[in-house]
Amino acid sequence: MNILERYHAMEYGPAPEARNEADAWLAARDFGKALFIGGDWKAASGGKTFETSEPSSGKLLAKISDANAADIDAAVAAATKALPKWSASSGYQRAKVLYAIGRAMQRHQRLFAVLETIDNGKPIRESRDIDVPLAIRHFIHHAGWAQALDRDFPGHKGVGVVGQIIPWNFPLLMLAWKIAPALAAGCTVVLKPAEFTPLTSILFAEICERAGVPKGVVNIVQGGPEAGAAIVNHPGIQKIAFTGSSEVGKIIRKATAGSGKKLSLELGGKSAFIVFEDADLDSAVEGLVDGIWFNQGQVCCAGSRLLVQEGIADALIAKVKTRMSRLRVGSPLDKNTDIGPLVDLTQLDRVKGLIAEGARQGAVCWQPDAALPSSGYYHLPTLATSVSPANILAQEEVFGPVLATMTFRNTEEAIELANNTRYGLAASVWSENVNLALHVAPQLKAGVVWVNGTNMFDAACGFGGYRESGFGREGGREGMFEYLSAKLPLGSVIKLATSSAQPVEQADGSAIDRTAKLFIGGKQVRPDGNYSIAVATAKGKLAGEVGLGSRKDIRDAVSAARACKAWPEATAYNRSQVLYYLAENLSGRASEFAARLTELTGANAKAARDEVEQSIERLFLYAGLADKFEGRVHQPPARAVTLALHEPVGVVGIVAPDNQPLLGFISLVAPALAMGNTVVAVPSERHPLLATDLYQVIEYSDVPAGAINIVTGRTAELAGVLAKHDDVDGLWLFADADTCAKAEADSVGNLKRVWSGNGRSLDWASEEAAGDALLRRAIEVKNVWVPYGD
Ligand code: NAD
Repeated sequence: MNILERYHAMEYGPAPEARNEADAWLAARDFGKALFIGGDWKAASGGKTFETSEPSSGKLLAKISDANAADIDAAVAAATKALPKWSASSGYQRAKVLYAIGRAMQRHQRLFAVLETIDNGKPIRESRDIDVPLAIRHFIHHAGWAQALDRDFPGHKGVGVVGQIIPWNFPLLMLAWKIAPALAAGCTVVLKPAEFTPLTSILFAEICERAGVPKGVVNIVQGGPEAGAAIVNHPGIQKIAFTGSSEVGKIIRKATAGSGKKLSLELGGKSAFIVFEDADLDSAVEGLVDGIWFNQGQVCCAGSRLLVQEGIADALIAKVKTRMSRLRVGSPLDKNTDIGPLVDLTQLDRVKGLIAEGARQGAVCWQPDAALPSSGYYHLPTLATSVSPANILAQEEVFGPVLATMTFRNTEEAIELANNTRYGLAASVWSENVNLALHVAPQLKAGVVWVNGTNMFDAACGFGGYRESGFGREGGREGMFEYLSAKLPLGSVIKLATSSAQPVEQADGSAIDRTAKLFIGGKQVRPDGNYSIAVATAKGKLAGEVGLGSRKDIRDAVSAARACKAWPEATAYNRSQVLYYLAENLSGRASEFAARLTELTGANAKAARDEVEQSIERLFLYAGLADKFEGRVHQPPARAVTLALHEPVGVVGIVAPDNQPLLGFISLVAPALAMGNTVVAVPSERHPLLATDLYQVIEYSDVPAGAINIVTGRTAELAGVLAKHDDVDGLWLFADADTCAKAEADSVGNLKRVWSGNGRSLDWASEEAAGDALLRRAIEVKNVWVPYGD
């Protein structure tokens, strides 16, 4: 036997991780008092418990207190009581507490890792080398943010009491992603872990006691959906941060509609792993192992769709199969194990069911010839080929060790396939040509893109989704904003317009009758229904008539906005020039607009002139900021840079208020345009002529057709159509409270990003109603990881 043969013949010996410390911890604890509320350990007030068991054997680990609504009340009360002192404490004080948590976790690092593996089933190599160190890094990194608040977030303060709900796939890491930024921002928290994996959160609560976290600042309540729903619906909570399935995310979006609660949703994914023909195939195969078989594929950003260029497909698949045959499936406490059990029998059944259905729909499913342990919820790594884009394995999140493969011919097709999903969490791009990779990355609808890598995370780099993968970011600067708020200067309460008597008598001095139509796709068009509504002057006379837009008109406007590629693809400098030109052309007609304002709103001449001047100034401001509100480069502790790019949200619906009708309209439309969004705007229902008068200004200003579309009509009706339209990506809404609440609830179809005034307008003349506060709402941050070095 030569050395090579001997090498291949060698067997792995067992390398078990000791579990005695974890067993001793389990034996010593009273899990009947597992609710950590106000610094005390409490039993569930309803006396109920739920069981957590070991996925590798199915054996019971503990019976845990199961919180009900009364327990959530108690936790929120404790968090509310602790809030004033904690939020008023200095950044340095909070930093010391965060640092102490991180250090205390380091001292118990191994216990955390072993407990996590026992409870969740993930291989010890992963919990020991990835989950726990990253969780610790999160606390230590956020100690710095606590002290940098005044410097980096002027005018902002913590949102208050936050409710946080997390899943079972990264129990400790998700807890860290939630609690660290909240504490840094001066918030107090009520966190509910997932019912499959309560253990490390209980150990974490013990750490909080030892690290000197003031009582009530961190409350951890164990329980299931009932406890989760009680958090979501609790009136004493100002923000909900949820990580979990898109299905539950949508329930939460609906439940919080109209409540004014801040909301971030980190949901499911179906991420593409794109391999171009010039990729280093061996690296790509290792990337795949990490991308889809890490944590048994129970990863929100798992690279579960392999898209491979046709010419290399056979070679890559052959390599993948060889590598799969060498993956070691077995006890998660063995240090050599690559694949442990799934978290629970229900999850195992779900994965099997999806594979069976995928096969029924034509996929060819292959598994290596390996034996599974006799007990526990194990599943072999699975490769599905001949997968059509509509196959359930290409569309549904399996959340298991299943890779669906498709091929593509060229770059355009790769991008199209990658984006052919309702999700948008992450993507990997493999090519030795960095120019190609960085050409593709911005075109992918995903919040994170890894170039020649996968599953890279860091506390300094934002993580989060596009589309139905949710909204909001966790980590870094973007993540801090989720726990902060800045007071915007409130304007008047907006009331639902009532269809009072229509004006009939022509206003004095009206010129030749001019019919204001709708503005769609760069053209003035008649409303589909061919109805008009009268617009009254301040004195109740007839100022003119505008088109009564309908569902069909909104649909046409959204199609035009979606079809307009010239605007999002234009350079920021180019957009800036167009916005300057708009300002210039508005300025040329300033007197006319001022007169119109006076006629419609009754504003005196000076006030009207001021509003027009402020509108021009605002256009100038956003023209200037179009190429300045840029992304950043992060330098995570890895041989990589992370480009945090600012990208447009997409098609943004804007429902403008009645107060300051010209300035309000421009204050909303201009920042959306500046960041490259295309807009469907519904102007003030009472004073739409100020927006329709803009048609000619827009036409003369080189705005590409479809970049701005304006549909006049009934606010409540048109807002509802925009909210339900699945091709609208964002919705900014200044309407009456009912319309806002309804639109938030109706937005769940595609989980569009909604910003609503909740029935209040803003004082558009104030400085705070301009600048970053709006620009931030006009972008998605995409983090592109680019590794370097050979
Ligand atoms: P899940 O949505 O079933 O449960 C998540 C959490 O929500 C649990 O704590 C659960 O008890 C709670 N919950 C369930 N119903 C609720 C309700 N009606 N109201 C309030 N809370 C409720 O998800 P899961 O099965 O635990 O986790 C898997 C999902 O999480 C996957 O879809 C995965 O992609 C997603 N995930 C996303 C990210 C991310 O950052 N985007 C990270 C990890 C996991």
